[in-house]
Amino acid sequence: MNAIAEGLVRPESNSEVQSDTAGVKTPQNQNDARPTREEAEAAVRTLLKWAGDDPTREGLLETPKRVVKSYEEFYSGYHENPAEILAKTFEEVEDYSDMVLLRNIELQSHCEHHMVPIVGRAHIAYVPDGKVVGISKLARVIDVFAKRLQTQETMTAQIVNAINETLNPKGVALIIEAEHQCMSSRGVKKIGVDTITSQFTGVFADPVMEQRFMQRIGRA
Ligand SMILES: [Zn+2]
Repeated sequence: MNAIAEGLVRPESNSEVQSDTAGVKTPQNQNDARPTREEAEAAVRTLLKWAGDDPTREGLLETPKRVVKSYEEFYSGYHENPAEILAKTFEEVEDYSDMVLLRNIELQSHCEHHMVPIVGRAHIAYVPDGKVVGISKLARVIDVFAKRLQTQETMTAQIVNAINETLNPKGVALIIEAEHQCMSSRGVKKIGVDTITSQFTGVFADPVMEQRFMQRIGRA
């Protein structure tokens, strides 16, 4: 335990500590040295074996490849930058000043505790302050954060913060409603339960605006 704690505090600074902690990867240096595709596929074979199956049988031979390829898709958000997506804005909007709302955006993420799907919908609105962004970009920003390991609470806050910081609107409203398969297919096994998270900033802190947002997404 001590060696791990030491390694976390100063992974590179001391050669003696280094030798004590050989093979111990901190979250930081894990990010620095991304495992190779072959290493990732080997890890999948380990899990297949651990589950009780034989990774060398015909039906499973290509499975590690497919799993790793799926991971590239599930976790593509780690390699995308929301600020870049929101960088192009338009100012020619004839003084449009009310909310821009996207309703029922399909959302697929994975819970960071069990790595199983979170499936649901997002409803997002912002009130522009002189500039708007292409509407599809809002949906893409949701994907950037959804395509990572997440908790629904963190994802909700990250999406709102990214839009606030990049677009500087008068306010942002976001509601996510999602089913967590770690709750429906394992653990307490409750099917059909939606977890609802919300974050309202700026003008949406006004109850009248919040109410208008809820009406427009059909929840009031
Ligand atoms: Zn979970």
